[in-house]
Amino acid sequence: MRSFIVIISILILSACQQFPQRKTLSAEEILSMQLGNATLWFQQSAEMEASYLQAYDKGKMLLKIKMDTLSKSELKPAVILDLDETVLDNSPYEARLFLKGKNYGSESWEKWCKQAKAEALPGAIDFLNFADSLGLEIYYVSNRKIGVFEPTLKNLKTLKLPQAEKEHLLLRTTKSDKTERREMVKAGHNILLYVGDNLTDYDQKFAERDSTLGKDLITKHQKELLHNFIMLPNPMYGEWESAIYGNDFSKTAKEKLELRRKQLNIAK
Ligand SMILES: [Mg+2]
Repeated sequence: MRSFIVIISILILSACQQFPQRKTLSAEEILSMQLGNATLWFQQSAEMEASYLQAYDKGKMLLKIKMDTLSKSELKPAVILDLDETVLDNSPYEARLFLKGKNYGSESWEKWCKQAKAEALPGAIDFLNFADSLGLEIYYVSNRKIGVFEPTLKNLKTLKLPQAEKEHLLLRTTKSDKTERREMVKAGHNILLYVGDNLTDYDQKFAERDSTLGKDLITKHQKELLHNFIMLPNPMYGEWESAIYGNDFSKTAKEKLELRRKQLNIAK
């Protein structure tokens, strides 16, 4: 009888080891797992590589066409690029968040920025050198905060990006709306092209996202977008995500997760 009890105990213990108690994930951890999936696509899919190369190649074609048809009396031609997930690859920061079960936070983000070790995204350096060789002025307009100006400039210089000088780097001082900074550049330049991973890297009017999450604006402004803006893919974060949260990023992780579920389209 005693040995029978021992055998049963061993069997129960063994079953418990094979099926450890399932941990319930928090909403924050689930959001982080979703970020991990997007980061994996961004870092490891050949499709991402091809998308960036294709987008920047279109950028070169547009610049060439626009430069060939430029009248001599116009202002100095220029191009405006966003930095994060446009020129700089911050996916290692996103990967770190996923591995820790965390999500974006300004403290961890600034810590990453200060490391100044982001690599360039596919096609970016080639595009920038091409623009530089055509005689265009290059302006890097980013919503990184002004507090990380020095490490950001250092990062651009390390990558040997053309015109990586302080006069060509416009970071965020008070507001994330880039209109004022773009207007400053526009005052002395003819902007031939904009490049970014958010539509607002082209124009703030794309921040007005209603029930269609901004898709109606694409239809309305399709022609100018295709002619003036190079759109890069970013499945990790962006204004598309804020739109899903009703443009309120301060919602709790649980609320964010619920809104994500509600936005999914299922066949009827
Ligand atoms: Mg960006």
